[in-house]
Amino acid sequence: MAKQVSPGVLALRKVVDDVHKDAREAKARGELVGWSSSKFPCELAAAFDLNVMYPENQAAGIAANRYGEMMCQAAEDLGYDNDICGYARISLAYAAGVRVSRKYDPETGEYIIDPSTGKPLKDADGNVVIDEATGQPKKDPKTQTPFLQLDNINDINALPDGPEKERRMEAISPIRQMRIPQPDFVLCCNNICNCMTKWYENIARMCNVPLIMVDIPYNNTVEVHDENVKYVRAQFDKAIKQLEELTGKKFDEKKFEQACANANRTAKAWLKVCDYLQYKPAPYSGFDLFNHMADVVTARARVEAAEAFELLAEDLEETVKKGETTTPFPEKYRVMFEGIPCWPKLPALFKPLKANGVNVTAVVYAPAFGFVYNNMDEMARAYYKAPNSVCIEQGVDWREGICRDNKVDGVLVHYNRSCKPWSGYMAEMQRRFTEDLGVPCAGFDGDQADPRNFNAAQYETRVQGLVEAMEANKQAKEAK
Ligand code: SF4
Repeated sequence: MAKQVSPGVLALRKVVDDVHKDAREAKARGELVGWSSSKFPCELAAAFDLNVMYPENQAAGIAANRYGEMMCQAAEDLGYDNDICGYARISLAYAAGVRVSRKYDPETGEYIIDPSTGKPLKDADGNVVIDEATGQPKKDPKTQTPFLQLDNINDINALPDGPEKERRMEAISPIRQMRIPQPDFVLCCNNICNCMTKWYENIARMCNVPLIMVDIPYNNTVEVHDENVKYVRAQFDKAIKQLEELTGKKFDEKKFEQACANANRTAKAWLKVCDYLQYKPAPYSGFDLFNHMADVVTARARVEAAEAFELLAEDLEETVKKGETTTPFPEKYRVMFEGIPCWPKLPALFKPLKANGVNVTAVVYAPAFGFVYNNMDEMARAYYKAPNSVCIEQGVDWREGICRDNKVDGVLVHYNRSCKPWSGYMAEMQRRFTEDLGVPCAGFDGDQADPRNFNAAQYETRVQGLVEAMEANKQAKEAK
């Protein structure tokens, strides 16, 4: 039976689909489409009715669709180092025109199916059908996909109009992340990390488009001082001027205020959704939250995003009242998942958690996008606080607060090879979690986008170790 999807989740899916559709249609009408870092003040672009796409979110989607390795390799072939963040590599390859495409036979125009793809074929009783000739399970032809190859949108665009051009265009993977229009301008805020600065400079240079930059330096103190706020506000003013020049329009204060109101409403509803993980058992898993990150990143300033999250909060309220959960196993242990998930390896991440009854009831990445403000100064302060731009004391405080509220028994830390600023201080954080909260921590090596950096066997061993430590902790507490 197909998995039931709640009205809130359906509404959220539509919001992201619409963001992409609107950008494609705007580009087709000859309007400007920009690319933006995830925590650039989207309210500014909304004041100019600009369509904006988000490369981090795009890269996550490309990685989750298993194209991360091809795109990362393509960036490396262009000369970008393997040590650069996987999101950046995917995005830089895309900016250079690289597209994952389906291989077809030019004679017949048919896609050539890769025989290694597809799920095992099952008979009417649900048993796997074995191929007599090979002794191996037969593949279900309905689930098989074509061979993949790389193409380049710039080469395709340079072709004369005709069947070959159409065919190659059509062969580009139909996932929406492979259909994002090339940028006419880029918006960058380095509150996310400093890799952003060079990444966006490179896109601007490659695509020969203007870059609008807001610099938010790493903050060494928990407080954001007034001079820091002034520094950022002055840059907001400059960004507005640059957007006026770019669009030929005046800054529309009313539209800006509406965008701020929408962004705040979205943030409040998003935080409410995140807080449902505090229930025991949790009505869903932190992995579900990761799936909704696309909405909070790409559509924060749209009223539809606020409405969809409010609807999801209502769905969750009902789920809690009924004592139900969408997690497909009984919750035995609760953990915080630290860091960004390995998008290409989500099933591999989930499998040992499910096998051991471990539910992810706390994540750091998701609530970081739920920030509320009442005026421009508070808005500047809010943009100052991103996971990689705050000092370790603030970082520990955030996480320990979530761990306490969400009643976790342990912490699973993703040492993400892509995200060095995040992973760098995790060893010290782990030490603090154990000392302050008395919970065990386990770390594993992985990558958010490049599957070459994840080892399922190591991960399973670390989860097993964490489960044993959580069980020992539980028993010691019960014995007291
Ligand atoms: S914060 Fe980490 S994952 Fe995000 S762009 Fe920077 S290095 Fe990459």
